[in-house]
Amino acid sequence: MIRRFADPSSMMLWFDLDDTLWDMSGNSVVCLRELYESQRLDRVFASPEEWDRIYHEINRTLWDQYGRGEISRDYLRSERFARPLRLVGVADDEAAGMSKDFDRLYLDSLGRKTKLVDGAREILEYLRLRGYRAGIVSNGFREVQYNKLKSSAIDGYFDIVVLSDDAGYNKPDPRFFSYALDKAGSRELRNIVIGDSLTADIAGAVRAGLEAIWLRRDPSETTDLNVMTIDSLRELEKIF
Ligand SMILES: [Mg+2]
Repeated sequence: MIRRFADPSSMMLWFDLDDTLWDMSGNSVVCLRELYESQRLDRVFASPEEWDRIYHEINRTLWDQYGRGEISRDYLRSERFARPLRLVGVADDEAAGMSKDFDRLYLDSLGRKTKLVDGAREILEYLRLRGYRAGIVSNGFREVQYNKLKSSAIDGYFDIVVLSDDAGYNKPDPRFFSYALDKAGSRELRNIVIGDSLTADIAGAVRAGLEAIWLRRDPSETTDLNVMTIDSLRELEKIF
């Protein structure tokens, strides 16, 4: 097999965490269902599916705004729960109080979940055996991201973890990636970002002058960016 990249020591691989390695979508659905049950949300939502759908719509919008630096992390954390509650008629005060509890319960539970994206552990093991250095680049919240890495037992695969909380900038801001390279001392290496988000990971990396590999979650999606596209983590074995 021809390997496109033959020299691991000249490279630094940067992985996004959520939905690239750690199964955020799958784990989050479980945590939201736990909230639905423990907080008796059947009192205000028609079904767990409705709660799920409304939460995800609002959460996605807020994360996009957060990624663009338009809102703070605290605002995101309170609004993603308060908004769905207000939408189904919970009074403002009550929604604000409930959202505080939900935030704590949800993030505690999320940090204990262990489900990984298909092939994640295998590819991390493979890359380590081949001698690659790997790091995490994530916009997630500090305490939660470290819990996810520990709970799913992949923390040992990374030389460095760079979070937007530490950098002071979010992906896709080029300053985030610049901070990561400085932290890792990898400016002289080929830095390659691997992630599922076209905007945050891939466009961000390209704009910062790095290489990128897009883990595409939906095979019907395309991009004009000059990057490699993979449909599963296992394909990385052909590249590295
Ligand atoms: Mg992601």
